[in-house]
Amino acid sequence: YSTQCENVQAPNQNHFGPVDTAPARRANATFVILARNSDLAGTVNSIKEIEDRFNRRYQYPYVFLNDEPFDEKFKSRISILTDAKVEFGVIPRDHWNQPEWIDEGVAKSWREWMVAGDIIYGGSVSYRNMCRFNSGFFFRHPLMEKYRWYWRIEPDVHFHCDINFDPFVFMEEHKKVYGFTITMFEYEATIMSLWDNVREFANMYPEYIAPDNSLEFISDDGGETYNLCHFWSNFEIADLDFWRAPAYQAFFEFLDYKGGFYYERWGDAPVHSIAAALFANRSQLHFFDEIGYEHPPYTHCPKRGNNWAKGRCTCDPEENFDDFPGSCLSRWERFINGTLS
Ligand code: GDP
Ligand code: MN
Repeated sequence: YSTQCENVQAPNQNHFGPVDTAPARRANATFVILARNSDLAGTVNSIKEIEDRFNRRYQYPYVFLNDEPFDEKFKSRISILTDAKVEFGVIPRDHWNQPEWIDEGVAKSWREWMVAGDIIYGGSVSYRNMCRFNSGFFFRHPLMEKYRWYWRIEPDVHFHCDINFDPFVFMEEHKKVYGFTITMFEYEATIMSLWDNVREFANMYPEYIAPDNSLEFISDDGGETYNLCHFWSNFEIADLDFWRAPAYQAFFEFLDYKGGFYYERWGDAPVHSIAAALFANRSQLHFFDEIGYEHPPYTHCPKRGNNWAKGRCTCDPEENFDDFPGSCLSRWERFINGTLS
């Protein structure tokens, strides 16, 4: 029997061809997934897809975070999906709960106002906790401290194409700080006073504004008003040190004391996006066309060159959010090409 078995593939090889060779080098990077125990099924689906499309070759570790301890079932059903290191962490109470300087009476009446106006998640305190945590705290969690780069994943998302390159190494080699796949308009009612606060901050700390920033992408009138364009933060590949740096630390603290995470319903997407647009140079922001990505109900399906075929994508290029009226991608492309104004 021994001779017959000699041509069987070694366990670290597989049948997917030359793109599947072991990576030359890896970045100091991790996946990060915020989830509840009840998100198990959707989380399993997301991890299975990213493993099949990318990580089974690259073996980047995972950090799962939750405001409550993950149960044994969650941990075991996730851990069997990958050979990479998997860590499960609990979020400290003061990184999650509504802070004591928020006037709960005022916050409650605004929640009721949003519920009456049918604003999505308008009545939810836990959603607000989540947005504040993703804005100001995930990169400070003890399990995240050892890493420089992260890729944010959510339950129930889809990776539609083979990812035959290492986005973290790409970010590092091209001196990027923030990578996205979908950009769209925010619901104005959730961030009514955000831009006024951003302007106040920018006037107080002009030294934090990058010389070649992307203000023109997020404002149609030179900074007077916000045009609501933001990067959809359920997908992010970014530099943790950008959030840990003084500019963003000061920005988050300023916004946090203003209370808009609770009085309004500021999302981590506009907060991250405005910071990336103002505190980084435009060359440091990156649109990953190659990464076919779906967070229902929207999909980014690769369209440049032969990215779609090369990635063996399962998405329909005709159902691409990039071409929908709610997308800011054409504005982004005109901004980057210098054809915006
Ligand atoms: P949406 O994408 O804006 O519709 O919001 P989601 O419901 O997908 O939540 C965003 C992310 O935060 C997902 O990864 C969720 O699993 C996670 N999340 C939302 N609320 C909570 C919560 O109360 N506790 C925990 N642990 N995770 C949450
Ligand atoms: Mn989601």
